[in-house]
Amino acid sequence: MTALPYPALHASHSGIWIADANGTRPIGRGEAIRIAADTPVILLNAALIGQRLGYADLSGLDLLELFAFLCPARFMVPTPRGLARVAGIDAPEEDSAIAPFLRDATDALLALIEGNDWPEREGAWTAAQSLFRLRWTWAPLLVDRLPKPSVAERWLYTKLPEWSEGAPRPAPRTVSLDADRTQERLAALTGSTAEQRPGQRAYAQAAREAFGPRMTQGAPNMVLAEAGTGIGKTLGYLAPASLWAEQAGGAVWVSTFTKALQRQLGQESARLFPDASVRKTKVVTRKGRENYLCLLNLEDALQGGFAGRAAILAQLVARWAAFTADGDMVGGDLPGWLTTLFRRNGSTALTDRRGECVYAGCPHYRKCFIERAARASADADLVIANHALVMVNAARGREQTTRPTRYVFDEGHHIFDAADAMFSTALTGAETIELRRWVIGPESGGRGRRRGLAARLSDVASYDEAGGRAITDAVVAAHALASDGWLQRLGEGAPFGPVEALLAAVRGLTYARAETEGDAGYGLETELAEPDSTLIEAAAPAAEALDALVRPLVALGRRLEAVLEEGPDWMDGPARARIEGAVASVAWRADTVAAWLSLLTRIGGPASPDFVDWMAVDRVEGRDYDVGLHRHWLDPTRPFAETVLKQAHGVLVTSATLRGGDAGSDEGWDVAEARTGANHLLRGASRFAALSPFDYANQAEVLIVTDVKRGDMAALANAYARLGLASGGGMLGLFTAIRRLRGVHARIADRLAREGLPLYAQHVDPIDTGTLVDIFRDDPAASLLGTDALRDGVDVPGRSLRMVVLEGVPWPKPTVLHAARRMAATGEGGGKGYDDRIVRARMAQAFGRLIRRADDHGMFVLLSSAMPSRLLSAFPPGVSITRVTLDEAVARAAALPSTVQTGQGARATANGEVP
Ligand code: SF4
Repeated sequence: MTALPYPALHASHSGIWIADANGTRPIGRGEAIRIAADTPVILLNAALIGQRLGYADLSGLDLLELFAFLCPARFMVPTPRGLARVAGIDAPEEDSAIAPFLRDATDALLALIEGNDWPEREGAWTAAQSLFRLRWTWAPLLVDRLPKPSVAERWLYTKLPEWSEGAPRPAPRTVSLDADRTQERLAALTGSTAEQRPGQRAYAQAAREAFGPRMTQGAPNMVLAEAGTGIGKTLGYLAPASLWAEQAGGAVWVSTFTKALQRQLGQESARLFPDASVRKTKVVTRKGRENYLCLLNLEDALQGGFAGRAAILAQLVARWAAFTADGDMVGGDLPGWLTTLFRRNGSTALTDRRGECVYAGCPHYRKCFIERAARASADADLVIANHALVMVNAARGREQTTRPTRYVFDEGHHIFDAADAMFSTALTGAETIELRRWVIGPESGGRGRRRGLAARLSDVASYDEAGGRAITDAVVAAHALASDGWLQRLGEGAPFGPVEALLAAVRGLTYARAETEGDAGYGLETELAEPDSTLIEAAAPAAEALDALVRPLVALGRRLEAVLEEGPDWMDGPARARIEGAVASVAWRADTVAAWLSLLTRIGGPASPDFVDWMAVDRVEGRDYDVGLHRHWLDPTRPFAETVLKQAHGVLVTSATLRGGDAGSDEGWDVAEARTGANHLLRGASRFAALSPFDYANQAEVLIVTDVKRGDMAALANAYARLGLASGGGMLGLFTAIRRLRGVHARIADRLAREGLPLYAQHVDPIDTGTLVDIFRDDPAASLLGTDALRDGVDVPGRSLRMVVLEGVPWPKPTVLHAARRMAATGEGGGKGYDDRIVRARMAQAFGRLIRRADDHGMFVLLSSAMPSRLLSAFPPGVSITRVTLDEAVARAAALPSTVQTGQGARATANGEVP
């Protein structure tokens, strides 16, 4: 029995319970809110429980925060099951047992402090004292229990190791990989003999070509390799990649789209380098700099820059920073749920989102996580990165001397979208206000260290008169950009300055012309064509203002380069590194403003055939949050080919669905070439395809349900509920519209919860997507609803995912951009063929979530009778596809081999009704 005096509260979709020393009882919502307001209550995930109670301000003794303090940088699924595992106690069997369990779990966690084997003890006493001053709810309990250390604890910044710089790495040697040695390497990695896995062996052989010597400048050895799930393509390409790195002395960059695959690659690399200390130097994971904790921003937050809950988050992040493997706050070992507990309050300010890094001018430069990752990757054999980072580095990276020559793009079907995002331009309120802050610095007496350009480059300004003038001019010109409160002023029809006036004209015309069909309340857009006189009149002064900004930025860039060349006395190594950093970031800003200017000249002028331009108002639930002009490349693989492919010597692009999801045929290579940029190269790409070795005919079936009426929300929700009940959870529900997802969730969550089947949903639960997938993976009775991100990036092998249910045919949204690309489509079937390829690729990706291993079984359900037969080739050859009624589909779901007995005893019957 617990010694703690506090009650514990739990709320699920099926009820609310409170547990105290006298036992457990169900209570009503009003009483729960009253108790939580009067007494500190123990709970698990206050944000989620608050949402279930309809009381967003709920706070208390949140066990997730306690775990983050006690076990920083450790993984935990934020559910009672996950908590039970880390606390080393039994998980509760049913919802009503969770509240008393939370009290026991509190005791178990606090007992860590008393033990002698608590690895994260160092720094805890000091942090608890700071948290006590901040009135963190757990602090009094911790301060009472934590003995003062006999030796003063080291402060985080003295504890972190420094990175060291080595001599620049020589260019890779020119080598050709031997076929037999590649196979030997593969066999060593997989532990299999030559007779086994012929598909993987052929794949490795094909991948080897990407590592041969380049014969013509601008024409890399490019290989397009489509390999169905289960071929083992990761080890298939790691075999030649690691051999090349070893023989050539160079680094291979493996780029993924999802964090899940990045993590998986990190794990697979253990086969290459079983010794962890060797692996640390040979395999490095790199992410965009906005992912990493900025130590300078953290210091600022700890020393008064943050207040209230944000200050508590800063303390918990500081605890984590002392134990993290790489300082990645977004996809690394900082729990994804931690920042959502604080409603993202402050977490973005702890990274370097605005590019305010002062490089060697920073006192923590030698310990900086970002700099450490960059240094480590210069000497690594294998750099695991993502598509966006590869493109950013190639386009405007500071590491030109260590430019990669060999790339593997896994999840290569995402190259097009990643390039689309990377090489686009957005002249919006949010973007201009970011730039304003970067140039001017804080304007409203904001706390913290954030500084403008003048402060960051004060030494240059005092040394170089022209440089100083350029900085002053840029600061003056930046006052024409949108400033705080711009959205409200636009709403009131009182914009301030030329850029806000332009945004007001864009907003007015967008509202006048945009269609509100589809996901109403979530965004409006319209072509940038036939502008009205208000917009034309607003464009000219805005262009003048931007021109007045771009000129000093370009001049400043030139002066910085000149100062570097002159090398004045005061410029020591750190100052040089800082100015080099400034050259890159000033150039990037100048390019951005130049791109905005060219977009503005389009208003009232001729359209460029290379670009698609439109106006948009971004909204969430009917409220504007950004307004502006957008420009995308009609074919974004063109700039991708110029900046990445043509600079490389060898590129392997691989995926399970490279050819638009038509795995059974020999067609689709033109799609693969167009979507990866291969068609912009002098030398064509070589092609390889291998079908999945899985026995889809026996492992999976596709059911097309014919009697759920389109547009009938109640019928749609009923179908999801019956299927989820029949399968006993394990359902991944996929939607193309957030509105429908929310509608279905609201109608069925209680119904499933009453049977002990938890339902989670993206865009509903206050939990990040990565954590939602962790929860779903961890509990075979759970179901998960989501949109695009789940269709592509979920890897849940085993019984936790046994049914994928798609709400309808995933047609592309009829956006301005889509319409333009559809019209320009030259492939088979013209625009209609273009749409078909998108749908097939999406269906293939969604189906791909179902069968991840040779022993997986599952069912793919499409709730739409309007599925054209020509699209059925999206599914692997051999899988049975049947059109059925909902009753039949429910009966089949109930017969799935891995249907589980639910926690609350009552089991759904074959027709999905609960007895
Ligand atoms: S070097 Fe830059 S990113 Fe790193 S801690 Fe310092 S300011 Fe932050």
